[in-house]
Amino acid sequence: MSSTQAPEELTNADASITYDAIVVGCGVIGPCVATGLARKGKKVLIIEREWTMPDRIVGELMQPGGVRALRSLGMVQSINDIEAIPVTGYTVFYNGEKVSIPYPHKGDIAPVEKLSGLVRDGNDKVTEDTTVHVKDFEDDERERGVGFVHGRFLQNLRDIVAQEPNITRLQGNVVEILKNKENEVIGAKVDIDGRGKEDFHAHITFVCDGIFSRFRKELSPEHVPKVGSSFVGMSLFDAKMPTPHHGHVILGSNHMPVLVYQISPKETRILCAYNSPKLPSDIKEWMKSEVQPIIPKSLRPSFDEALNQGKFRSMPNSFLSGRQNDVMGMCVIGDALNMRHPLTGGGMTVGLNDVVLLMKKIGDLDFSDRETVLDELLDYHYERKNYDSVINVLSIALYSLFAADSKDLKILQKGCFKYFQRGGDCVKLPVAFLSGVLPRPFLLTKVFFAVALYAVYINFEERGALGFPVALIEGISILFTAARVFAPYLYGELIG
Ligand SMILES: Cc1cc2nc3c(=O)[nH]c(=O)nc-3n(C[C@H](O)[C@H](O)[C@H](O)COP(=O)(O)OP(=O)(O)OC[C@H]3O[C@@H](n4cnc5c(N)ncnc54)[C@H](O)[C@@H]3O)c2cc1C
Repeated sequence: MSSTQAPEELTNADASITYDAIVVGCGVIGPCVATGLARKGKKVLIIEREWTMPDRIVGELMQPGGVRALRSLGMVQSINDIEAIPVTGYTVFYNGEKVSIPYPHKGDIAPVEKLSGLVRDGNDKVTEDTTVHVKDFEDDERERGVGFVHGRFLQNLRDIVAQEPNITRLQGNVVEILKNKENEVIGAKVDIDGRGKEDFHAHITFVCDGIFSRFRKELSPEHVPKVGSSFVGMSLFDAKMPTPHHGHVILGSNHMPVLVYQISPKETRILCAYNSPKLPSDIKEWMKSEVQPIIPKSLRPSFDEALNQGKFRSMPNSFLSGRQNDVMGMCVIGDALNMRHPLTGGGMTVGLNDVVLLMKKIGDLDFSDRETVLDELLDYHYERKNYDSVINVLSIALYSLFAADSKDLKILQKGCFKYFQRGGDCVKLPVAFLSGVLPRPFLLTKVFFAVALYAVYINFEERGALGFPVALIEGISILFTAARVFAPYLYGELIG
């Protein structure tokens, strides 16, 4: 049962009709699916167990590829009026040195596609507010990402949903995906405060129930995420950012990666990686001994203050390759379908681009023709791979390098940083992959192995002439390690 008493308009959905679509979950992806379909003329029921503003430490930095997807969907104004912080690129620290990596030029990327029926009345452009400026987002020559308080962004998405006449909102806990005798999905059973458990029917049910999805297993019992590490987070207040409007990645040969980015004029998120799903027994002590010493000087006062307050929050970092939606009457999307390491902040970007593709594939179909919809969903699985595999594989490969726990990985980590320091294409391509504007998995492979070869070269240089034989053996081992952290994931993403 939901924890708050919902207003009547959220509990009186009609259970006697067949909706075109039911959407389970109104997090990041659910509202975008529901709005897109509603604007295409479909009757949509969206079910969320808790409509009040969530307080989570996930989904707080959106890459430019995510902002572009919101534009395609006519929903980009969801980043307005929430004191969002524009992001213009990244600063990477490595053992005290740093390199600045700006986001790509708009001129190097195809223009944003405006989806018919969804984009109207300028809803693909941001409006002016206290922190988001039209001239930066619309007129600047470079792409922009954005940092925000997750719950405030979600409330904006939910407000857009509330304004769509074709959408009915329902507060309730979905407890079962309903199936007919042929094992095809026909709707959802919902536990509603004051009404009890009721069945709702639709031609298609979209499962968008997020990271801890209860219903992803409806695709297959084997569709289960792997959890290898976690993030411990804190809020820093009035932090002096080393590079304002940048995401910060703090790396070093002897510690785990730390992410820092501003999410409002006052608040900055710090996420510290811990290489196990099980958290340290004394988080404060771990923060003090492992993280505090590597925090850049300007951030130290706010970090120390947060450490004293001791308000730690944590999340598991999961990986789950996407799977074909091959069950009649159901489509699993968002984190319920596919997850990657949050190090590269790509989750919302993948999910939102999946929604864009989904609208193009099935938005104009008649959902009562379930066979045709299923055919398109089978194709959709292959079409999403180019885009999503780049972000997914990059996240895991970079995490392996940045959390380096072996000699080879430490050499690769150093090589990667030195590669960035060369500038030009050596930052232009990696940041284009990261920001979700270069969906080319084979080019990613080429760049990843160029980084590995550069790491081998740096190692040769450091070993000098006398160390040549050792460097040669190490070089082979480094390349083997690079292949091991990259190839299985790429294969899994592209072939699975
Ligand atoms: C530590 C961490 C940091 C991250 N940081 C970033 C980042 O900076 N940038 C980025 O792009 N991505 C980030 N992500 C990933 C991002 O949060 C997700 O990709 C995104 O939230 C997925 O959206 P979703 O709609 O699929 O799921 P969610 O946003 O989780 O939404 C699921 C919704 O479904 C509802 N729900 C669940 N079960 C039921 C049910 N049975 N009945 C009714 N409602 C239900 C939930 O209440 C929720 O509202 C991060 C992830 C983690 C773990």
